[in-house]
Amino acid sequence: MSYRLHYRRYRLPFRSPVRTAHGPWAEREGVLVRLVNAAGQTGYGEAAPIPWFGSETVDEIEAACRELGEAVDDRRLDAVPERLGCLKNALGVAREEAVKRTPAQTHLGVAALLPAGRAVLTQIGPKAEAGFRVFKWKVGVGDLADELALLDDVCAALPGGAKLRLDANGAWNRRQAERWLERCADRPVEFVEQPCFVPPGGTSQGPALRRNDDLLLGLAADFPTPLALDESLTGDAEVERWLGLGWRGVFVVKPALLGDVKRTLGRLAKAKAVVVFSSALETRLGAKAALRAAFAWPGESRALGFGVWPLFADGRFDGPYTGPFLHWEDVERINPEAVWNALS
Ligand code: MG
Repeated sequence: MSYRLHYRRYRLPFRSPVRTAHGPWAEREGVLVRLVNAAGQTGYGEAAPIPWFGSETVDEIEAACRELGEAVDDRRLDAVPERLGCLKNALGVAREEAVKRTPAQTHLGVAALLPAGRAVLTQIGPKAEAGFRVFKWKVGVGDLADELALLDDVCAALPGGAKLRLDANGAWNRRQAERWLERCADRPVEFVEQPCFVPPGGTSQGPALRRNDDLLLGLAADFPTPLALDESLTGDAEVERWLGLGWRGVFVVKPALLGDVKRTLGRLAKAKAVVVFSSALETRLGAKAALRAAFAWPGESRALGFGVWPLFADGRFDGPYTGPFLHWEDVERINPEAVWNALS
C-alpha cells in the first residue's frame, strides 16, 4: 500500500507545569502524522516522546518524517528503526485507524490523581464524592518523614474499600524505599510505583542498570505491597526485558511509548502480567489510540492512569474529562481530524 505522509510538529503548554522526577515540565512537544492512502482514506497518529524515559526526541522524529518524504509505502514505514518507537507507534496507529474495534469492556475505572504534599488532604473528599475509589498520590517530592507522617491521614480520608497508589517517580534510594514499604504493609496500598530508578544514558549505564534491576527485584521479594514499573518501561524492549526477569509486579504501560503496541501487549497478556494503562500526556489524538489499546486488553482491568485532564492550556487538545469511569463510546467519539486542524 502506498500513502502520502504529512506531519505537524506541535508545542502545547500545559495549564500548569507537570511535576516530574526531572523537574517541572511546562509544555508537551510532539509530532502528529497523517497518512492518506490511494483510495483517499485518511488516518492520524501521534508521536509523543518522553526523552527522559529513554524514548527518541521530537527533533529525531521530525528529521525522520522529513527524510521519509511525502510518498511512502508499507515497506518504508516498516523500515523505520526500532529506536524511533514513538514514531513507529504514530505511523502504525495512522495505518490502522479505520480498523473497527470491539472493546473487551464498555467502560473502565479511572484513578484520581492527588497532588503531592499536604494538599492531598483537601482533594480526597471531593474526588471520593465524585465516585472515585482508586487514588494516586505523588510521593518522593518533599521531606520523607513529613510525607510518611501524612500517609495515615491520607489512608484515614479514603472512602471504605478504596485503594491508594503511591508514585515515587524513582526518587528514593534503597533505604528510603524500605522505610515506605515497611509502612505500606498493612495499609490499603494497591502498589508503589517506581520506588527507584536509574535514568537512561551515561557511561556507568550497564552496571548501574543491573544494580537497579536487582534493587527493584529485591524490594519486590522482601515486601508484601506490590511494586509497579513505570519509568523503567521505556519501550517494547524494556517491557520484554522485565518479562524475561520474571517481574511479577505491575507493568505501568504508556502505549504511546511502544513501537509495536499489539505485539508487546500480546507478550504481556500471554505472561498474564498485571497491566495499568497510563497516559503519556499526549493530546486527545494520541489518547484515543492509547485508550483503544486499554479497552482491548484481555486481562484483569485495573483503574486507568488517565485522570490527567484538563491538562493543556488550550482545551481543544484535552481528552475526555474523566470521572471515575471512562466509556468506550467517548473514546470512539474523539475526532483526530479536529485535533490536526486545531494545530493549523
Ligand atoms: Mg509513574
